[in-house]
Amino acid sequence: MSKSCFYPLVNAVKNYPWGSRTALNQRFHIPNPDDQPQAEVWMGIHPAGVSQVIFQDKTCSLAELITSDKNAMLGKRMVEQFGDLPYLLKLLAAESALSLQVHPQKAQAQAGFQRQQQGSNNPPDYNDDNHKPELVYAVTPFMAMNGFRKPDEIVTHFRRLTVRSLDDAIDQLALHPCAETMQGFFVTLMQLPEDEKQQAIERLVSEAPALYDENLAAFILRLNHYYPHDIGLFAPLFLNCLTLQPGEAMFLSPGTLHAYVQGVAVEVMASSDNVLRAGLTPKRINLTELVACTVFEPVYQETLLMIPESGHGKHHYPVPVADFCFDIYTDVTHFPVHTASAEIVLVIEGRASLQHSGGEVIDLNCGQSAFIPASTGDWTLTLSGRLCRVYG
Ligand SMILES: [Zn+2]
Repeated sequence: MSKSCFYPLVNAVKNYPWGSRTALNQRFHIPNPDDQPQAEVWMGIHPAGVSQVIFQDKTCSLAELITSDKNAMLGKRMVEQFGDLPYLLKLLAAESALSLQVHPQKAQAQAGFQRQQQGSNNPPDYNDDNHKPELVYAVTPFMAMNGFRKPDEIVTHFRRLTVRSLDDAIDQLALHPCAETMQGFFVTLMQLPEDEKQQAIERLVSEAPALYDENLAAFILRLNHYYPHDIGLFAPLFLNCLTLQPGEAMFLSPGTLHAYVQGVAVEVMASSDNVLRAGLTPKRINLTELVACTVFEPVYQETLLMIPESGHGKHHYPVPVADFCFDIYTDVTHFPVHTASAEIVLVIEGRASLQHSGGEVIDLNCGQSAFIPASTGDWTLTLSGRLCRVYG
């Protein structure tokens, strides 16, 4: 049995250049005394940012707390299946876009990380040996690119732009739309001669409003504002562009090329930090590894939004992986909750009170989070606002 039913969390804040200086501070009261670009808050045990728990006015690492009694903390099923906390929850505030990226499948991450440990991959592409399926839940309107468009849309967009070195690849994609021609097009684009690439980008930016619809042009111009001359400026032409409204969510399978462009969101993923980049970044691009990890199939725009299962006060967003489950609660009083695995809850609006049947109570304000051990069992939630619950 665990020592406590609810452990308030103290979480690592990640300052990355694309982060917002104001959003996490204003909305979630995350202190920002040095006016840093606050990009992410990490809730979990990933070595790159382990959360601390508060217990009897002292702090200790969540990873250590879990290790101290895995059966009580994680529950039997999570111990057997994963051996540790399998997910990572984040708050994310993008002022400018995150890199255009893909996450590996599990087997690719295991092989890649192992190669690296043996010293044959330097600089490294992998930070751990895990896959990284991810769910993003919008807190504010959230601009994102997710998955390849249908081949005929890609063909139309690039024919309007006319880039000579791409003509053959585009003709092939038009004639035989399949994974092979999609990959051929992508690799040719990524390897465009520098002068031709820059000419095409110039034309893309100056003529976007005339060549493309308003939404597509808005994506191109926003990206250009932060990443002029970057190969990623072509991404809106071949990836689905969408703006999630607050409360909408999407799921990204490993292998899906994507980029988050602007907005505040909650993100939950398998506990991994493996990212292979394709653009919108000053960082190195390893084209071979990127192509090996990318699935060159279209993702249909109408399938992007998740459809939650909604009941009284609760929305459950079903995901096709075992690493995590994700629920949102809104405005409930003494709502019964049963915990049977390691859970993290995070208040994203208003305030919450968690009460255990044994009498223990904690109150959480907006932006505050808590770890709940599997052994906690039954408790009730009183909430004025919105709360995310992640569990196994
Ligand atoms: Zn991602």
